[in-house]
Amino acid sequence: MTVTFAQKLARLPQYEAGMHEDAAREALGSEDVVKLASNESPWGPHPAVIEAVAGAAKGLNRYPDQHSRRLRRRIAERFDTDPARVAVGNGSCEILLAAAEALCEPGDEILFAWPAFSIYPHLAALSGAREIRVPLAEGYVHDLDAMLAEVTAATQLVCVCNPNNPTGTHLPAERIAEFCARVPDHVTVVLDEAYIEFQTNDDPDATVDLLADFPNLVVLRTFSKVHGLAGLRCGYALCSAKFRGAVDAVRQPFSVNELAQTAAAEAILHADDVAERVERTIVERIFVAERLRELGLEPPESQANFSWIPLDDLDEAEVIRRLGEQGIVVRGGEGLGGPGHIRVTYGTRAQNVRFLDALAAAT
Ligand SMILES: *Cc1c(COP(=O)(O)O)cnc(C)c1O
Repeated sequence: MTVTFAQKLARLPQYEAGMHEDAAREALGSEDVVKLASNESPWGPHPAVIEAVAGAAKGLNRYPDQHSRRLRRRIAERFDTDPARVAVGNGSCEILLAAAEALCEPGDEILFAWPAFSIYPHLAALSGAREIRVPLAEGYVHDLDAMLAEVTAATQLVCVCNPNNPTGTHLPAERIAEFCARVPDHVTVVLDEAYIEFQTNDDPDATVDLLADFPNLVVLRTFSKVHGLAGLRCGYALCSAKFRGAVDAVRQPFSVNELAQTAAAEAILHADDVAERVERTIVERIFVAERLRELGLEPPESQANFSWIPLDDLDEAEVIRRLGEQGIVVRGGEGLGGPGHIRVTYGTRAQNVRFLDALAAAT
């Protein structure tokens, strides 16, 4: 006899995150590595956040607040809602996984576009639900009509990634509102807005207003991207009190650690800093897009902090290898559901120039 593992293990896709910088240094045998592979911020956290984390470190002998009350209150104040309608998680990924576990029985259906965020297939594999992937439409955008056509009595969860990772495309809030109005009430719609701050189509909080109309809507956001806190893992959902209760029930009691709670509660106070980060990112977005076009590449218009670059007849693995030789780490489309592409996160200007020069040499 030998140990056996749960059957779902065989169903689980391999989640391969972008290479960690240390791993990249080791693999490339060089200290001089630029990581543009995980849509992180190139800028560290706000100084006040670093100070708050340092202060909180003294109290690490204690468990954190199980209910993350201060953080949830700050998020509620920021969005003018009730803390009962704010769920926080060890990254917004944890909320996604908990949502699937809390909503789905084996045989239920989880619907999402593809390619979209690479964690979505895990939700189905872990919960035993069936995944329904709906191909993106022309221009790498969500095909909301095609998604609606796939909704059945068995559909429990629909994930809409907007702006979409890995393609960077964004649908205006108006389109999301129309979609929500047509989705049946028994379906939970998770609007994954990890990059919403970076888009310029709408006021970033336009979709938050939809929560009043659609009790089955969940707006999911994160401190990992624009706030520069990916290393701490903290995300949140604006949702119904029922949804929050459900995701809390399926998770361990202290999933958001003290430093993450402290950092996020401070970061959310600095709206001006967020605006400045967004502005700097958009300057880089315009710069990178222009240079890519000069290279004859035609990425869809990005509304996020990364570009999705179709490589046409270039070989993806070869391009990644050549970039790697120059110390540039990007994500290949192959592992993200879109072979023949690369996804590159915008870094600082110097990093972007290095990437673009290396790409020019590789094309
Ligand atoms: C990065 C990202 C997240 C956020 O992940 P965290 O778990 O909060 O770090 C969520 N959704 C999408 C689409 C992302 O790209």
